[in-house]
Amino acid sequence: MQEKYCSWEEKLKSSGGRLTTPRKIIFYILSSTPKHLSAEDIYFIIHKKNPKVGLTTIYRTLDVLVKIGFLNKFDFGDGHSRYELIEAPNKQHHHHLICRKCSKILDYTDFIEEEIKLVKATEKALSRKYKFEIKDHVFQFYGVCDKCKK
Ligand SMILES: [Zn+2]
Ligand SMILES: [Zn+2]
Ligand SMILES: [Zn+2]
Repeated sequence: MQEKYCSWEEKLKSSGGRLTTPRKIIFYILSSTPKHLSAEDIYFIIHKKNPKVGLTTIYRTLDVLVKIGFLNKFDFGDGHSRYELIEAPNKQHHHHLICRKCSKILDYTDFIEEEIKLVKATEKALSRKYKFEIKDHVFQFYGVCDKCKK
């Protein structure tokens, strides 16, 4: 835990940010779960140990962390924005398969060949067309999972 902690601290400092208590706790929570948590989920976890940290602070902190590039914010269509760390030892770059029925989110890293080719070709053509340097992307596919199909 200590090692990760330092790298956030350094990264935050280099991006001009401060390591405030809510940030620290949010990093800690998001790095210790494979789940995509909503602001309310995070609030619930924090509140048990730090009742002083309010929901507004959490919303604000999450927003800042998204803006300075530490978190991905997702809308999976269930009415709650969800968050995950962009870089974490337990999270590699992955894509999402999202079930519309049970809201299950499947993270996968075992990309198919067609997908890799498509992403590469699309990024290349897009950056040429819009003179835009692409650094990252988010892929999510919506549908019905195996369990819900039965
Ligand atoms: Zn990808
Ligand atoms: Zn499902
Ligand atoms: Zn994910």
